[in-house]
Order: sequence, then structure tokens, then C-alpha cells
Amino acid sequence: MGIRTGQQYLDHLRAHPREVWLRGERVADITSHPAFARPLAHTAALFDLQHEPRYADVLTWKAENGETVSTCYLPCRTPADLAKRAAAYRIVAESTFGMMGRSLDFVGSVIYGFGESAELLETLGGDFADNLRAYARHVRDNDLFLTHAIITPQIDRSKNSGDQADAFLHLGVVRETSEGLIVRGARMLATMGPIVDEVLIYSMANQKQEDSNYLFIFAMPIDTPGIRQICREPYDNGERLPGNHPMATNFEDSDTLILFDDVLVPWSRVFAYNNVPAINHFHANNTGKNHSGHQAAVRGLVKLEFVVGLIMEIVKANGAEKFLHVQQMMGECLHYVELMKSCLVRTLAEAEPAFGGTIKPPMLPINSARMLTSRFYPRIIEIMQTVGAGGMQMMPSFEDLDSPIAADIQKYYQGAAGTDAAARIRLYKMAWDICGDAFGSRQVQYERYHQGDPVRNMANLFLGYDKSVCQGLVAQAIAKTGQDILKPADQSPLTSLSSITLAA
Ligand SMILES: Cc1cc2nc3c(=O)[nH]c(=O)nc-3n(C[C@H](O)[C@H](O)[C@H](O)COP(=O)(O)OP(=O)(O)OC[C@H]3O[C@@H](n4cnc5c(N)ncnc54)[C@H](O)[C@@H]3O)c2cc1C
Repeated sequence: MGIRTGQQYLDHLRAHPREVWLRGERVADITSHPAFARPLAHTAALFDLQHEPRYADVLTWKAENGETVSTCYLPCRTPADLAKRAAAYRIVAESTFGMMGRSLDFVGSVIYGFGESAELLETLGGDFADNLRAYARHVRDNDLFLTHAIITPQIDRSKNSGDQADAFLHLGVVRETSEGLIVRGARMLATMGPIVDEVLIYSMANQKQEDSNYLFIFAMPIDTPGIRQICREPYDNGERLPGNHPMATNFEDSDTLILFDDVLVPWSRVFAYNNVPAINHFHANNTGKNHSGHQAAVRGLVKLEFVVGLIMEIVKANGAEKFLHVQQMMGECLHYVELMKSCLVRTLAEAEPAFGGTIKPPMLPINSARMLTSRFYPRIIEIMQTVGAGGMQMMPSFEDLDSPIAADIQKYYQGAAGTDAAARIRLYKMAWDICGDAFGSRQVQYERYHQGDPVRNMANLFLGYDKSVCQGLVAQAIAKTGQDILKPADQSPLTSLSSITLAA
């Protein structure tokens, strides 16, 4: 089959009704519910983008079976292949201004990496590794849209899964049968869950032996009977006007808690089970996190560029760009953008061997890009709030522009440097969606948490870091303590930037 069109995606959704609950009601047809209309339209547009001749060379490639498939499944043998993946991520991110974190290429990249890394599961025996390879091909060849739910629901974080108030609050195995696993319980957070085709269940690395019954990897069609999703309250019920909320009405990713009510997961869809060390090893070493992290870093850069561009326009429109401290904050934002770009250069320049002759982008710069975004992004939003100030609250409704008070609107809402009222209102409303509206708050929360808890992620970097260069320098200095003058280094450098080979 290969790449689908937006219409094929929507037809498939309609033909596969799923159990989704929103505001106390079961959604009868996801494709016609107003809360999902615009996210669906954007997702469908991303499928169509793959068919546009001007993007085809970047967004697609011809697989060994002759199918034209998405670049997020492209095996990388050279830095140029990695660069093609990055270029494809960028096209997708630009088309949503970086606001749709869970576009098709995100979990697509996870499952690509899982398939590529299947050999890590060979120690489990059975058919697990082959099941995973076959599933990754199935997703690629049918252009399926996936969500993933990695995290146990936040019930009591001080307890293991088995020690919660009920043994199956967290998704766990109830029993094995000849046909597969019966699973029960909940996972969070299935972003895009209502409008995907399938859900992939796995975990972060470093899970405890005591939680063995809660540690597995599997994937299921989202319309499987017994899979139920409970949506958070949507920010746009389809009633808000795009003129008043240009971003919030367009780019809302839905989020759900996903429940499994004694669902049978057939053995063919079980990719790992019943072996905590092997599964932890897989989670720590598969290349899905490299490729999805690479996607997240490219999308994150586009988002920063867009949001910083919005701030530039605001300070131009209100004349604040002439003030030194505002220029300083703008410079601060631009340093964040430049740091992100630098991280991305390393993803290509320091590509590492993966499996079967493929290469992968290294995790260190990817993690730096993502962890820094969890700090930069809230700071950039704070700067947007600071420079927009009360002007954000002063804006009228878009409808006022074409009303009996239109002349007042034109007069009192004009801005600096010849900005007319309509342009200024449009700009500030876009900014408010990003820095004030519930949509914008979720975007901040997303950048802070979507890649896991930044507290533990940063601590893990420290714990696993090769500290030899940093500590080696200190050792050299200590060794010279007591000398009148700390003489220049009398040994070869501990590291050399020239060891970084730049990609051709
Ligand atoms: C908008 C959004 C979209 C998301 N989309 C997805 C998705 O599509 N798929 C998915 O799987 N996940 C998704 N996530 C979930 C995300 O992976 C989690 O939010 C993240 O892993 C943090 O987990 P938590 O929210 O349960 O926080 P918790 O782990 O409950 O943390 C709460 C607080 O307690 C602290 N804490 C908790 N446990 C410990 C500990 N053991 N040691 C030290 N400190 C601790 C944390 O530092 C934090 O401050 C999304 C999150 C957001 C906000």
C-alpha cells in the first residue's frame, strides 16, 4: 500500500470506530465530532503532504518491496540519510509551526527504531524479535498513525505498580493464554489517541524487577474492544473562532488516559514480556529513542524559531524593540535557537553505528536539545508575556473589527511602525494562544514533560556521563597545586575537537 492520502486515513478512522469518552459522553464518530475536526484536518493534510511532488523526494523513499513509504522509516547508512530524515522532520514541523508534537513522524520514528533494534530482543527467545520486525514493516507499509503510552498513571508515585491500591490500576498482565496475554489497567498519556490507528505500549528503561508483571512491549489497533480512552477537556470544542484563536483552533493535540479492560493481546503483537533485564536493555539501547529524539529536536527548533519570530513581531508592533533590556531578552532567545542548531549539527556529525550497518544520531546532543527545550521554552514564553504585557489583555474580539465600533478599533489598536489595528490584533491573538491560553499552557507542559521527567533525565545524564575529561582537568590542576605558577599543560590534550568528523 505505501503512503496514504488524507482521505484514506479519514476513511480508515471511520471504518474503525473506537471507544473515546469526552465530557461524559461516548463519541459516536470521531471523524464528525467538532472537537476533533481541525486536528483531524491537519493530520489528514500531513498525509497529503507526502503526495506533493515538491516534497516527495524528501518525505518519501522507495522501500525494497517497491512501496513508496515515509522517510521516517528510512534506514540510515550515511549521514546524508540522517540529513534526509532531518529535512523531512523539518517540512512536517514547519507545516504545523512545531505545535503538533505528535505528528505522524514521531511514533513512526520510534517504531522504525524498534524494528531496526529487534535483535536486542533475541535473548528473549520465542518469536518476539520477529514479531517486532514484522510489526514495524506492517506500520511502514500501511502508513499507520500511532500513539504510544509509556507512563503508568500518576496515582501514587511513591509505590511500585503492584503496591498501588489495586493490582491493576497500572496496566498489567492478568494471565497468559495460548492465544496471548490478557491485560488490564491504565497507561498515560496517549497524545493523539482518539485519532490514531494503533497504540504502542512500552516503558522507560530502568524498571524494577518487582514490576515485572507491568513490563512488556506490545501494540494493538486502537479500536480493539476493551480499549477505552478518556479525553482531557478539549480547549476547542469546535466553537472558537480561528480569528480569535488562530493556533488553539488549529493545532490541538488531544491527550487521553488509555484503559485496557481485559484485552487479549495476541502473541503476534507481543514484542517483549517476562524478562525485566532484557526489556530494560532494549529500552536503553534501541534506536527508536534516537530517531524520535532527533525528530523532537528538529521540531523543537522550528517551534523556538516560530515563537521567537512572534516575539520579534510583537516588539516591533509595540515599539519596545528600541529598549536595551528588550533587545537583551531577544538576544537571549536567539542564543537558545542557536544552541539548538548546534546540537542538531552534532546529530549528523557524530552519527554512531547502529544495527546491521545502519547509523543513528547520538543521544547526547539530542538529549541536550530536548532537556534544554524543557528549560528554554518556558523562559521564552515568559519573555513573550513580558514584552507583550497588558497589550495581550487589551485586544478586542476579532468580530469587533467589522462592527459599528470599527473606527475606534482602527484608531486605538494601531501599533508602532505603521502597524494597523487588524495586523496588531491578529499578531497579539496568535501570541496569546501561545503564551496565555490553555492551549499555550499545554504547549509549555508538553515541552517540559513529553520526553519524560526532566529532573530524572538530567540526573541520569550526570550518573551515566563519561566524566574523564572534566575530572581529568581537575586532576591536572590538583597535581600542580603548590607550584608558584600553574605551568601550561605538559601532556597531550584530554580531548580534541578535531576528533569530531564533520559530515560530508
Ligand atoms: C502534554 C503532554 C503530552 C504527553 N504525551 C505523552 C504521550 O504521547 N505518551 C506518553 O507515554 N507520555 C506522554 N506524556 C507523559 C510524559 O511522559 C510524563 O508526563 C513524564 O514522563 C513525567 O511523568 P508524570 O507526568 O507522570 O510525572 P511524575 O513522574 O508523576 O512526576 C511528578 C513529580 O514528582 C517527581 N518524581 C516522581 N517520581 C520520582 C522519582 N522516582 N524520583 C524523583 N522524583 C520523582 C518528578 O520530578 C515531578 O516533579 C505527555 C505529557 C504531557 C505533559
